[in-house]
Amino acid sequence: MSKSIELSAPLTVRELSEQLETSPISVIKALMGMGVMANINQTLDLDTAILVSEEMGFTIRESEPAFVVEEIQAEDAGPDRLALYRSEATETLQPRPPVVTILGHVDHGKTTLLDAIRQTRIVDTEHGGITQHIGAYQVEKQGRIITFIDTPGHEAFTAMRARGARGADIAVLVVAADDGMMPQTHEALDHIRAAGAPVIVAMNKVDRENANADRVYGQLAAAGLVSEAYGGDIPVVLTSALRGQGIDELLDYILIVNDIHQTDIVANPLRRAQGVVIEGVVDPKRGSMATLLVQNGTLKQGDSLIIGSVAGRARAMFDWQGNRLKEAGPSTPVQVLGLQDVPRAGDRFEVMDNDKATRALSEQRKERQDTGAPARITLEDVYRQLQAGNVKSLNVILKADVNGSLEPIVNSLEDLSNEEVEIKILRQSAGYISEGDIMLAAASNAVVLGFGVEADKPARDMAEAEGVEIRLYNIIYKMLEDMELALKGMLEPVYEPVTQGRAEVRQVFRLSRKGQVAGCYVLDGKILRNSRARVIRQRDALWDGELDTLRRFQEDVREVASGFECGIALEGFQDFQTGDIIESYTMVRVS
Ligand code: GDP
Repeated sequence: MSKSIELSAPLTVRELSEQLETSPISVIKALMGMGVMANINQTLDLDTAILVSEEMGFTIRESEPAFVVEEIQAEDAGPDRLALYRSEATETLQPRPPVVTILGHVDHGKTTLLDAIRQTRIVDTEHGGITQHIGAYQVEKQGRIITFIDTPGHEAFTAMRARGARGADIAVLVVAADDGMMPQTHEALDHIRAAGAPVIVAMNKVDRENANADRVYGQLAAAGLVSEAYGGDIPVVLTSALRGQGIDELLDYILIVNDIHQTDIVANPLRRAQGVVIEGVVDPKRGSMATLLVQNGTLKQGDSLIIGSVAGRARAMFDWQGNRLKEAGPSTPVQVLGLQDVPRAGDRFEVMDNDKATRALSEQRKERQDTGAPARITLEDVYRQLQAGNVKSLNVILKADVNGSLEPIVNSLEDLSNEEVEIKILRQSAGYISEGDIMLAAASNAVVLGFGVEADKPARDMAEAEGVEIRLYNIIYKMLEDMELALKGMLEPVYEPVTQGRAEVRQVFRLSRKGQVAGCYVLDGKILRNSRARVIRQRDALWDGELDTLRRFQEDVREVASGFECGIALEGFQDFQTGDIIESYTMVRVS
């Protein structure tokens, strides 16, 4: 590489990398090679800047124009660069430790890597407690703290994102050097990308005889992860988790990537705490407890908390080494005692004014079965959400019968993107719709589109539980038409009647207030109080409307099963005759 540039000094590592049009990581690495430890915002003097540029293969011209040294105006020289990015309201934001998660294919060494990191770099605490597995831990490197989520794989990451919380700041993707990219590696990458998290690759098991780093570099590049060594900007660290090799380098990279993204990795320690549940457990002696990750603010002992729909008070708090804490600041994982119930992993928590407010909100959420998580997107709702500014893109997971179907659909979907909305395809692959697809959709607020495929039973159940919309098509243009209508807010839902049960009128009563009531016998299925009804006489549907009252022995009931008698009154129909059939049906959405 030979390129002439003009340098103005002093300049930061970031500015130098911009001028050199290279990644800040390569500048930092070259500086390290020269024995200079610098972070991305460090200001370099001209000599160092020239030296490191030359080190990296750039030519510095000394003749006209020589390095143009610009005078820096006094008021431009001092202020913290971060301030440029901050609005007034966020003035109190301060850097916090990065939260890192480790993802990758099974058996590629995630757990071993997490163990190796934990062992090598334990933060020295006053008491030096005993390691507790609470779902997250912290280590120290270069005098700085890094928080690791201790549940390997994308489940924890996904659970957090599914409830609308940021999963982690930095993702480490583990790929075994002997095995290469595998299905779960790709899946993990989809999650990382959908989250927009910066990624570092740990190419693990390099000690293995059959390790083949070149092959893995090629696979990574094919998946869009071009390593720095090949001119890309993805840091790839060679590790042997088993032998503890590469761990230091990995931690150094985490700090570098943290610094590159430092404007995002901030929090306001002065506000009341909010964050996310890493795990919840019941301890026979201590009751319901949870490990919370404080994401913003500071959690204090005694604080009143709402966690999803669970109320609690932080009676006692412990760090991952079992030390008692009075306070926990941003990015600190902390085990909390004093909860009324066990919250779910991924639920969000917030400190409230007082116990009364917490209890009231808890009751309200329980009643509405609301976990405090944002509502999922549906095609019908996307327009409203776009208008309200809640979303800027429509995230899609696309599954098709064969690979050949994918490309034309993807191209057509991408063509539908316009200035107001972008259609983002988070995953496109051939095969039936699986739980993995629903997980990604739930975590990324996406809809799942199937072309010529079905969803399996576990996936359907999960979609139902998570409120993820699945739409199945067999005709491409119908899929595209629906998407187009959805983006314009013109998609109408399609409902179809589904019969719940049938009852025969055996006797007609006249009640003074209600008018005519049909004494019936339920032939099959169930008659539901909250349903619509049709009156059928000699195979002709005579009337269609709402069911008004449903009674058994003078009692209002919600449903009556087959083989039982009941009284039915309809809203606006009186003219019953014995032998009429009353059909109870509900309208079920089919798309
Ligand atoms: P996970 O499923 O990704 O969490 O993988 P594990 O951490 O459980 O590791 C799977 C297997 O690979 C275990 O038998 C580990 O001992 C082994 N392993 C992990 N890292 C390395 C490594 O760097 N080198 C070698 N040779 N084996 C490793």
